[in-house]
Amino acid sequence: MKSLLRLTFCFFLFSISVSSAQVFNPYYNGIVENVSASNILDDLTTLVDFGVKEPGTGAIENAKDWIINRYQTLGYTAVETQDFTVYGQTTSNIIVTKTGSVYPNTFLIIDGHYDTVNGPGANDNGSGTVLILELARLLKDVDTEYSIKFIHFSGEEEGLIGSEFYVNNTVIPENLDIKLVLNIDQVGGVAGMNNNTIVCERDESPPNYNNAASAQATQEMANAFGLYSSLQTEISYAYGSDYVPFENNGEVITGLYENNESPYTHGPNDIIENMDPNYVFEVTKGTLGSALHFAVGREPLGVSENSFAENITVYPNPSNGKFTVKLNTLSEENIELTVFNILGKTVYTSSLNNATNAIDLSSLETGIYLGVFKSGKNLVTKKIVLN
Ligand SMILES: [Zn+2]
Repeated sequence: MKSLLRLTFCFFLFSISVSSAQVFNPYYNGIVENVSASNILDDLTTLVDFGVKEPGTGAIENAKDWIINRYQTLGYTAVETQDFTVYGQTTSNIIVTKTGSVYPNTFLIIDGHYDTVNGPGANDNGSGTVLILELARLLKDVDTEYSIKFIHFSGEEEGLIGSEFYVNNTVIPENLDIKLVLNIDQVGGVAGMNNNTIVCERDESPPNYNNAASAQATQEMANAFGLYSSLQTEISYAYGSDYVPFENNGEVITGLYENNESPYTHGPNDIIENMDPNYVFEVTKGTLGSALHFAVGREPLGVSENSFAENITVYPNPSNGKFTVKLNTLSEENIELTVFNILGKTVYTSSLNNATNAIDLSSLETGIYLGVFKSGKNLVTKKIVLN
């Protein structure tokens, strides 16, 4: 978002209010491109190897310690556990907070349960657990306007006990200001099937006063999946997972669930071989794009980037498609220009080698485009308008 504002400042004499619209964001996409399929598979393998993670078992305690260690290794300092009991067995929620730079007391909650029942839970909910860990890795050093809480609940399989406990013992007494709860449960897909669709779940249950906001957030999440993943989306209703206690408390919720429903959950065959790790990879990309949208990721602007940006002038802008790009001081490295449409599709690429470069986009439809100029590690985005 910051890049668009800066751009407006740089070379627009009129204003176009696209900065609040949900369009492809090259900065977000650059972060999403770092989602690692091998990290996801490694983490799934580790979680499955712990065994059946029911409250009271050594397996869930080992998984808990491993998850906590992962956050600490990433450099998160606000890592808390919250103990409660399930049928007399003590177990823990894991709550990790990343502080936002503009709204530190308003939270995007990204949650999923890490307990399993009767099986190792590769899909239910190893998939959601590793997705959250990968988000936490890639968001660690991203400046977000809103705070984020990554929460790994226990006691879900016995009836949402951990999330209910968190709502009653943290959300309500602390009057926590929650922007949105994004719950991830069972996004592993089914081996051998075409797992090309993610279900985006919205609140269709009473209380009803929070349902419109849930529908809006869920649509925005589906849009983000269109922009940052290869998956198609289907909107459905939320039920039977850890967002329910929040929803009952009046919070705005949304959720992700697989479209091809696994027949193996809650049993010994909920193993990696019966799911689709590449599907988890795609779901992670869409969820990360959604998280950056909801928490409002802000692009850092270094000194070198600033001078790089000032070196590049695009005129006339708007134009009928014939633009000139002027490079005020030619660096030794070439500048690569990629033009994206607002859906994130590449529509033009060119190498800029001259002090002035003619760019012909007149074959494109009128509208707003994003020109990404890249040289070495410098990257700057400028809005280009065809009218
Ligand atoms: Zn589950």
